[in-house]
Amino acid sequence: SMTIRNEIAEEVRHLSQKYGKVPGLAVVIVGNRKDSQGYVSMKRKACAEVAIKSLDIDLPEDVSQDDLIAEVHELNANPDVHGILVQLPLPKHINEEKVLSEISIEKDVDVFHPLNIGKLAMKGREPLFLPCTPKGCLELLSRSGISIKGKKAVMVGRSNIVGLPVSLLLLKADATVTLVHSHSHDPESIIREADIIIAAAGQAMMIKGSWIKPGAAVIDVGTNAIDDSSRKSGYRLVGDVDFQEACKVAGWVTPVPGGVGLMTVAMLLKIKNTVDGAKLSVLLQNKS
Ligand code: NDP
Repeated sequence: SMTIRNEIAEEVRHLSQKYGKVPGLAVVIVGNRKDSQGYVSMKRKACAEVAIKSLDIDLPEDVSQDDLIAEVHELNANPDVHGILVQLPLPKHINEEKVLSEISIEKDVDVFHPLNIGKLAMKGREPLFLPCTPKGCLELLSRSGISIKGKKAVMVGRSNIVGLPVSLLLLKADATVTLVHSHSHDPESIIREADIIIAAAGQAMMIKGSWIKPGAAVIDVGTNAIDDSSRKSGYRLVGDVDFQEACKVAGWVTPVPGGVGLMTVAMLLKIKNTVDGAKLSVLLQNKS
């Protein structure tokens, strides 16, 4: 992740020097949820580390949906903002889908806009941005020298945020892709066929060592809190894969938490998306 950060810092420097354009990321947070505050401050800190300008928008828990949308429209119109992140979840009185759909598609770094997902799904089309965690999964594979083309890949989970876009990226990379979800019969035997397993079901240690083909590459996106009385907090985080068992069988497996640090990579790639956004605005400017 240090390498990626250096690469991004280098690109940011290049954009600033050559085009006088500093990539800007607006991070919008509503209310005081502890976990959201944590994620947001990580994102803002990461921006600072690579000299991306972050615009902090902190709104109170009781902000109206109209005021939040007005804020999004202002950011859409702000030429110094190339990416907009709205931290989820939003308070109950706000319609998340409505707010996210108001983010201009050129600034949709989290790729929640249906048009972006649609383009991701179509042959020969490219979305403006790639969703961060899925992009992180593919980046992890490629940086570890694991080839995807022609391989059998099984994606466990089909959410809009992780499972679906990961499966589409794998398909674009010429894997033969199977999706496993909560209605799949005999997931074990489907998963055991896979050369590449990506787990994002949110089910603690669901995938056992015996479910994994020897030598397979395993990416564990799942992040689950389970009771652990030996910890001061009373819990610890585990993945969707039984890591101890998987290590004995798999060719390559990512730990949860830490190790390769999916979360960090995903976060840095979010910022990479912002840099891409700034590049895009330079391109558009030069055209007109
Ligand atoms: P969702 O709850 O939105 O989706 C879970 C998916 O897994 C669904 O498609 C569901 O199927 C499927 N599923 C649930 N149970 C099973 C089962 N027993 N067997 C097979 N499939 C099952 O979760 P997300 O996609 O948002 O997140 C998944 C996990 O990844 C979570 O643990 C989350 O914390 C973690 N995460 C980690 C990130 C990171 O950067 N490290 C980023 C985002 C998420 P169905 O569609 O039928 O309901």
